[in-house]
Formats: sequence, C-alpha cells, structure tokens
Amino acid sequence: MNKGSVDKGIELQWANVLESLRGEVGEDAYKSWLKPMVVREVNDGQINITVPTRFMRDWVVAHYLDKLNQLWAHENPDIKAVNVFVQPDQAAKLTSENAGKATIEAAQSQAGAAKNNGLDYQKEISAPLDPRFAFDQFVVGKPNEFAYAAARRVAEASTVPFNPLFLYGGVGLGKTHLMHAIAWHIRQRDPSRTVIYLSAEKFMYRFIRALREHNTVDFKDQFRSVDVLMIDDVQFISGKDSTQEEFFHTFNALVDQGRQIVISSDKSPSELEGVEERLKSRLNCGLVADIHATTYELRLGILQAKAEQVGVQVSPKVMEFLAHKITANVRELEGALNRVIAHAQLVGRQITLETTQEVLHDLLRANDRRVTIEEIQKRVAAHFNIRISDMHSARRARSVARPRQVAMYLAKQLTSRSLPEIGRKFGGRDHTTVMHAVRKVDELKEHDSTFAEDVELLRRMLEG
Ligand code: ADP
Ligand code: MG
Repeated sequence: MNKGSVDKGIELQWANVLESLRGEVGEDAYKSWLKPMVVREVNDGQINITVPTRFMRDWVVAHYLDKLNQLWAHENPDIKAVNVFVQPDQAAKLTSENAGKATIEAAQSQAGAAKNNGLDYQKEISAPLDPRFAFDQFVVGKPNEFAYAAARRVAEASTVPFNPLFLYGGVGLGKTHLMHAIAWHIRQRDPSRTVIYLSAEKFMYRFIRALREHNTVDFKDQFRSVDVLMIDDVQFISGKDSTQEEFFHTFNALVDQGRQIVISSDKSPSELEGVEERLKSRLNCGLVADIHATTYELRLGILQAKAEQVGVQVSPKVMEFLAHKITANVRELEGALNRVIAHAQLVGRQITLETTQEVLHDLLRANDRRVTIEEIQKRVAAHFNIRISDMHSARRARSVARPRQVAMYLAKQLTSRSLPEIGRKFGGRDHTTVMHAVRKVDELKEHDSTFAEDVELLRRMLEG
C-alpha cells in the first residue's frame, strides 16, 4: 500500500465501512459521531482517521473503534489497525457545520427565542446522548426497579418530584443509561426545556477553565439557567475543594429555583470521600436510589433483550450459561454477548456452548478467579501469622490491626464490594473504618517499601 495518501480503493472501503456502521448505530449516532470522521492516510496497514475534538475522539474510540477495526479488516485483510486522532483545525469548520444538523438539537433550535440562551447553552455544554440509552431499552428487574421508577418519575413529572435524584451503584450497572434516558425523554416531550447532561469531570474542567479565564460569573449564570442539570460520576468531584464549593453553590441555587438535579455516583452520598458534610447532607435530601448488583434473572433478561435488539438467535442454553458465568456487571455481560455474536458472524458458524466457552475463555477464567473477602482474610491472616478470627475481633493491638487493615485494603481493591459491605465482613465495622484502613495502607505503602512489597505479593497471590 502506498504511504501517506488515500487511494480510491481505500475510499471505497471506507464508504462500505461507514454504511455498515450507519445501519448498525442508526442515523442520529451516525451523524453525530461517524460522519465527521476523515480518513487522512494509510500507512503500513494502519488507517489514520481524524475527528475535530478530543471529546469526539474519546467517544469514537470508546464506542466504535472495535467495530471500525472489525469492519475494515473484513473489507480489506491488509488493514491491521484503525487509529483515531484529533485534527483541531478541522474543529471550527465542523462544529458550525455539524451543530445545526445534530439530531434533536436541530428541533430545539427552533423552539422559540425566549429560551434561546438556555438552548444554545445546552447545545454547547451538554455531552451527546447515546441513542441506545433510552427507557425502552432498559431491562427492569429487582436490583434496579427502584432506580428505574425514580428516573421515570423525574422524566415524566411536570414539577420537581424530589431534588436531587441521586442514583448510585457499582460500575456498569446502568447509571449513565438511566440519566441519558431521562434526558431523551424530557427533550422529546418538551424541547423548550434546557437539559444539561455532563460528567463531573467535564464540569470540573469547565469550572477550572472559567477560573483561569476569569469568567466564573458567566459560568455560574449559565449553569443556573438550566431546567434540568445532570452530573454523572460525581465521585470525581470529591476532594477538589473549589469545584466542590462551586458545585454546591450551583446546586443550591438550582434547587432554590425549583430546577431538577440528577446526580450519579458509584458511592452513596455518605460514602463520598473528601466531600464536605453540608454537601453530603444536601445530597441526601432528595431521593437516593441505589442500583444493586445484578441477579441471575436480570442478567438473563438483559441478554434476551440485547440478542433481540441485534436480531440474532442465541440459544437459551448459551444465554443461561452467560448469565451464570458473567456476573460482574451489565457492561461486561453485554461485551461478552457481543464478542460471541461477532465471532459467530465472522467465522460464519452457529453460536454453541462450545464456541462460547472458546471465545470467552479469558473472561470466564477471570470470573472464576474472582476473589472473595473470606479468601482475602484467610490469606492475609496466614501471611501475618494471626488467627482468622482476629479479622473480626475487636482487638486493636497493632500486630492484628495492621493485617486487618491490609485485608480491608485488598478487599476494596480486589472485590466489587462497597465500603459498608466490607466493614460488615470485618466484625461489623463502620465504613469509615474501612476508608481509614485504605488510606492508611496507601500511606504506608508510600513510605515503607518492604510493606509495599508485602501487599503487592499478597495481591498477586490472591489474583493468582
Ligand atoms: P454505569 O454508568 O452505571 O457504569 P452504564 O449505564 O454505562 O453503567 O451501563 C453499562 C452498559 O450496560 C450500557 O451499555 C447499558 O446500556 C447497559 N445496561 C446497564 N443496565 C441495563 C439494563 N437494566 N438494561 C439494559 N441495558 C443495561
Ligand atoms: Mg456511567
């Protein structure tokens, strides 16, 4: 293949790849994410593609890169990899071109001059919504029915039912999905309402930029002019003093004006580390809805729904097997199903239990190996020569307290248990004790290399 240029063959392949993707992801996502991509060069089996912004690059890489690689390899076996870069000088041109076209925002830009400021702002600030994350694509079961009902309530209410709605749960359990679903629903029902959805990281980034540019007044006004503000993964804000302060003020102002706030976090308000008490108690004032770990029934339901969505026949046996084996979270479950389907399509064979086990052998092994808190306690006790019962006892002598802290630390690192759950397994201790242990071990590791090696060794043995 020639270097540094794009020949006709490649252009044709690209057109095919895009067409397949478009069929798969739908028109909205295609326009927002795929259309702006430009193939820049082909070099030694590597396709280099550019997009206008870093955010777009991150999104495309996270959501479409596997697919791009797959489709392109299918078009042309010489292609080994697709790379996505940012081409900033493209940005000015493309944002003005794209902004007008971008899906629902187009309808909203006609929604009347009165609200124009807010809506322009929505367009500028709000992160794009994933079209798949709608209510009708969310499978409801015991672990998430409460959070789902609360989210629906917020989306459908004409007055604010509770403020804030605080969604919390472990990774990959559907927090972001529910937030996007709320946003889709409100924007569809009433395009004149300003709905801002963004990650806490983005919020922080914007605030820090405003600080640097001495623009904080604008920043505040803008955020305070929204109807619904949703901030995802708010645990990122913890510890960042000035952002926390700003978040708190924005939060209060919005609540006072009767605007809806929705927040997600992987911790409950009281478990948020480094967050001021007054912010915690304010967060606790609305409705706190947690999403619990998945159950077998929910996992099975999700697999059935996903297989139906992509129109692929998967035998009940295979689905039951997956629901039994892939238990960590929905994201991993979805990924496993996608891999099995992609494999079957690539090699043109039926999906059987055998191929499933083969395709997923690494993932299945990792799931089999998942450590329990009991194992951690046993290993750590043996390593430090103390009794297992000391993991639960009230004894505070350093000779037992330190190993206990190490075990708590490893439980936090190696399992998906929450701090209160871990505390309970250590003789009913409080979550703050666990938090303290984690911090203490981190600190000791930094100053004591022998200790750090000990902990590392234990970790490796447990991960085995
Ligand atoms: P979180 O934000 O909690 O980490 P996400 O909302 O990103 O998790 O969910 C991870 C993936 O799992 C997404 O693709 C999402 O659509 C899917 N998912 C999670 N819960 C459900 C559910 N109940 N029904 C259907 N899909 C789900
Ligand atoms: Mg999320």
